[in-house]
Amino acid sequence: MTTFLIYIFMLPFGHATLPLVINTWPFRDATSAAWSVLQAGGSVLDAVEQGCSRCEVDQCDGSVGFGGSPDENGETTLDAMIMNGDTMEVGAVADLRRIKNAIGVARAVMQHTEHTFLVGESASVFAENMGFTAEDLTTNKSLSIFTQWLKDNCQPNYRKSVLPDPSKNCGPYKPRAMSKQRQRERQIDIHAHDTIGMIAIGQDGHVAAGTSTNGANHKIPGRVGDSPVAGAGAYADSTAGGAAATGDGDVMMRFLPSFLAVELMRTGAAPSSACKTAISRIKRYYPEFFGAVICANTTGHYGAACNKLPGFSKFSFMVSDSQSNIPLLKSVDCF
Ligand code: ASP
Repeated sequence: MTTFLIYIFMLPFGHATLPLVINTWPFRDATSAAWSVLQAGGSVLDAVEQGCSRCEVDQCDGSVGFGGSPDENGETTLDAMIMNGDTMEVGAVADLRRIKNAIGVARAVMQHTEHTFLVGESASVFAENMGFTAEDLTTNKSLSIFTQWLKDNCQPNYRKSVLPDPSKNCGPYKPRAMSKQRQRERQIDIHAHDTIGMIAIGQDGHVAAGTSTNGANHKIPGRVGDSPVAGAGAYADSTAGGAAATGDGDVMMRFLPSFLAVELMRTGAAPSSACKTAISRIKRYYPEFFGAVICANTTGHYGAACNKLPGFSKFSFMVSDSQSNIPLLKSVDCF
């Protein structure tokens, strides 16, 4: 009986035939784009780049690419990363301004520099020098989200321990003396987040992973989330597997959930249980955090896990492999 229960517990969520593409949320066209690259003989890095780029163009859910998540100044800035699980090279950009193709710039950081991570205005200048077009990332939609936020007295708001009271007022803010009072509970807006995180695994077991996002709605200018941070937003290691995360990056990045999940898969954990452990680790400290992780190993097993919240009981993700040959929508019950 015990053996049977252990076996059930270890059962993977799904098993695909390599090559495999898996990504967060029902971003089907992104999966298709990545899958087409693999079908045409392209590399897993090309697949991840093209897949995530698709979302940057389509503005998947408004949470990837231009015209989404305006910051406190109304500006959209982008974060992205890409990782090669064969060489452990990473290219990442954060707080990228004026450039739509953030994951393309991340790839350029990986391929054309010895660095890993470029940020802010300098990352944009690097991108322009590398031939990326500078454009305004603001749209009518992002402008109206911003205008509404100003009308709502800058709510929701990420500031704390400042004056005037940020739960009722716009800035400018000054620090206020810290009191022993319990901090205001942060409001969870599950619609303020979504990111494309993608893992592609080739027939030869080459793993690549990447992310692209416009971060969190009304973020403080300069805020960088988990998505471009290796081990937090995504991680790839061809000797074990890949993982990618989505959700409240401010909290999630403190736990490196993608790195943890890959390390657990290295020690033999099934992808779904690796993902679950990564979520549990965060839950222990932040029971009400919003987030999900996808995991896949080099034998083509995959899984996902998410933290159950009111209004968030299932997490959807996409999978494409040579059995299905078309992107399949999957979902997992949050716990
Ligand atoms: N993790 C992203 C961030 O916090 C957003 C998301 O995935 O929902 O920037």
